[in-house]
Amino acid sequence: MENYDVIVIGGGAAGMMAAGTAAKNGKRVILLEKNPVLGKKLLITGKGRCNITNYCDVPQLIENVPVNGKFLTNAFYGFSSYDTVTFFNENGLETKVERGDRVFPASDKAIDVVEILMKFIYKHKVNVLHNSAANVMQFGKIFAVKLENDDVIKGEKLIITTGGKSYPTTGSTGDGYKFARDFGHSVSKFKPSLVPIIAKRIFPLGGIANSKGCNVKDLQGLSLKNTAIKIIDTKGKAVYEDFGEMLFTHFGVSGPMILSATSHIRSLDGHKLVIDLKPALSAEKLDERLQRDFKEFSNKQFKNILKNLLPKKMIPIIQQISGIPEEKPVHQITGKERKNLITALKELTIQLDKFRPISDAIITSGGVDVSQINPKTMESKLVPGLFFAGEILDCDAYTGGFNLQIAWSTGYAAGMSC
Ligand SMILES: Cc1cc2nc3c(=O)[nH]c(=O)nc-3n(C[C@H](O)[C@H](O)[C@H](O)COP(=O)(O)OP(=O)(O)OC[C@H]3O[C@@H](n4cnc5c(N)ncnc54)[C@H](O)[C@@H]3O)c2cc1C
Repeated sequence: MENYDVIVIGGGAAGMMAAGTAAKNGKRVILLEKNPVLGKKLLITGKGRCNITNYCDVPQLIENVPVNGKFLTNAFYGFSSYDTVTFFNENGLETKVERGDRVFPASDKAIDVVEILMKFIYKHKVNVLHNSAANVMQFGKIFAVKLENDDVIKGEKLIITTGGKSYPTTGSTGDGYKFARDFGHSVSKFKPSLVPIIAKRIFPLGGIANSKGCNVKDLQGLSLKNTAIKIIDTKGKAVYEDFGEMLFTHFGVSGPMILSATSHIRSLDGHKLVIDLKPALSAEKLDERLQRDFKEFSNKQFKNILKNLLPKKMIPIIQQISGIPEEKPVHQITGKERKNLITALKELTIQLDKFRPISDAIITSGGVDVSQINPKTMESKLVPGLFFAGEILDCDAYTGGFNLQIAWSTGYAAGMSC
C-alpha cells in the first residue's frame, strides 16, 4: 500500500480544509471519510444555508469562544474570518453578510460550500477514500490507520478531524476521542452545547412548578420574536439574559436564544426561564395600556382583549396563569387581577428540567485537552507528527458562524504545519 505524507481522518469542514491546504503545499494527502459523501454535517448547518463564519476581528472571534478561546489566538490570526471569506470568494463562492455579521453563501445553499471545498481538495489532488478508520497506530515515526475492511494506510503525519459526538447520523460519532486516547491524550468530559432544553411546567403566579400551572407542551410550535428572556438560578440571580427569538417544542424550549443560553450555562440545577412577552413596555406603561384598553372595550370579555396582546396559542396560558376567568367582562376586572395579568405577561416563568442529549446538540462541548496541543500548529505535544483540528478539540463557541471558523482556522493551521 502506498505511503502518504499526510493522512487526514474525517472529511468534514476541518478535514477538507486541512487536507486541501497540505496538498496545496505539495504534500501527498489521503483523506478518509466514513460517509459516502464529504461534508455531511456542513449540509445541515445554518438550517441548510451554512453560516460559514462571522465577519469580525480576531479579538471578537476569541470573545465568542467561551471554552478555550485564547488557545485559538494563533490559529485565528493565521486564518481569520476575513481569510475564510477570501478563501471561499477566490474559490468561486459568492458570500453575503447578514445581521450580526453572519456570513452565508449568496445562494443560501450549504451544498455550494461543500462543493467549493471539494473543488479545492480535488484541484490539489487529495486522494479521497470513503472508508472508516477503525484503529490508529504508530510504528517508529510512521502512522498506520487500519480501516474497517482491514486495509492499512500509512503516512508520515496524521491529522484527526473526526468532529464531536453531536448529530451522529452525520458521521460524527466520537471515534476520534478513542484515537486521541490511544495516543495518550486526555479528553475532557462531554456536555451538549447549543442544545434545546426539556421543560414541562409553566409556573402559576407565585406558585411552585408541580402545583397547578400549565403545560409547556400546549405551546408546541409557537415561535416568539422580539421577546426578552432571562434564566435565573435557585437564588433568583439572572445568569443569562437575551432578546430575540425562541421556540416552543413538543419537549420544551428551543430557538436561537435558548441555544445560545446553553453555551453560557454549563448545568441546569433548578434554573428557571423567565419570559417577558412585552419587553418594549415597562410594567407601568403596560398597566396604562391595559387600563386604556379595558376602558375602551369595557363590555368585552377578557379573552377577547387578550387577542390584541398575544399570539393565539399563548392566550389560554396567560388567561390561566393570571387567574382571570376568560368570560369576565373587562370592566369587572379588579386592580389586583390586572396586576397579576401584568406579572404573567412580563414574568412568564418556566421550570427548566434538563438539556436534550448530546446527539441533539449543535456542538459537543469537551474534547481533546488543548494544553497538550501546540496552539500555533495544532500538533500534539505528546506525539510529534500527530495533529488535531476542528470540533474534536475542547473548544466551543456561540452561534453566529464561530464554530465553523474554529474548524477552518485549526484545519488550516494543521494543514500548513504538517
Ligand atoms: C444542525 C447543526 C447546525 C449547525 N450550524 C452551524 C452554522 O451555521 N455555523 C457554524 O459555525 N457551525 C454550525 N454548526 C457546527 C458545525 O457544523 C461544526 O462545528 C463543524 O461541522 C465541525 O467541523 P469538523 O470538521 O470538526 O467536524 P464534522 O463536520 O463533524 O466532520 C467530521 C467528519 O469526520 C468523519 N468521521 C468521523 N469518524 C470517522 C472515522 N472513524 N473514519 C472516517 N471518517 C470519520 C465524519 O463522518 C464527518 O464527516 C452546526 C452544527 C449542527 C449539528
